[in-house]
Amino acid sequence: MTLNLPPAGHQTGSHTGPRTASGAGTHLAPPILVAKDLRVTYPNGYTALESFTMDVRPGEIVALLGHSGSGKSTFMKAATGMAPSTATQLTIDGQDVIGATGVELRRLRSKVGYVFQHFNLVPQLSALTNVLTGGLHHAGPANALGIFPRRQRERALELLDRVGLADKARQRADSLSGGQQQRVAIARALMQEPRIILADEPVASLDPRLAGSVLRLMRRIAREDGIPVVVSLHIVDLAVRYADRFVALEAGQVRHTGSVEALTPDMVTDIYGQESEDDEEH
Ligand code: ADP
Repeated sequence: MTLNLPPAGHQTGSHTGPRTASGAGTHLAPPILVAKDLRVTYPNGYTALESFTMDVRPGEIVALLGHSGSGKSTFMKAATGMAPSTATQLTIDGQDVIGATGVELRRLRSKVGYVFQHFNLVPQLSALTNVLTGGLHHAGPANALGIFPRRQRERALELLDRVGLADKARQRADSLSGGQQQRVAIARALMQEPRIILADEPVASLDPRLAGSVLRLMRRIAREDGIPVVVSLHIVDLAVRYADRFVALEAGQVRHTGSVEALTPDMVTDIYGQESEDDEEH
């Protein structure tokens, strides 16, 4: 665990113990994602998320922290109706997630751009075609045959340019580096014209330099396009550097939350245990 925190005592806006994670007051725009008292109990009876409350507003990056198994992926699944959930409220862009089926569920999922740890590109397809598949939510009949109108191709090229990969458009995805593949995956998510991006450990497979460049890109997208990003990270340093707020989970409950400036070494020890401090000394 690498850690480079601001001095202790700089704690404005932090909370301890089971808490809600709200950006209210810091952003005036209405939230894109609202989760109130979200609970996920898997069919085997295991409750992976409990009393989880968070809202996410345009333009911000919220980092989900916590040990492996603390419920970060479960939250991402619940947000798109892929985990058995109950809640007082769970909405994306004002649309209810719980109970959504068929057309509603497809519409909901089209509003969420997913970015995964292992990129999930189609390896044998070009970077451009991978980006184009992000538009399939809005697909016409020709798309199903792999034929994309010029307008869509131009848009996909613009997005590749935006993520710094215009010159790799024709290259097979599996010939690109990890950092480049993650940039293609981000362009694919943007092709979908999402209202929010959920990124599940998007830099866990990248070296630190590339991790920083991918997170900088996400922050730029959040700021410039107003598309908020919820990103799970296991390196606290990256959250401090690139996120606005953090939500730290422990065993499915919010243990700490606040602005990243308010994250103290004590909280990190509380979240990750003593080993995080030992690592810091090496
Ligand atoms: P994280 O993303 O923080 O590593 P997860 O959300 O993947 O954590 O998992 C949270 C907990 O839920 C873990 O204990 C995991 O084993 C459990 N879990 C995840 N998916 C399922 C499932 N489909 N059925 C039962 N338990 C699950």
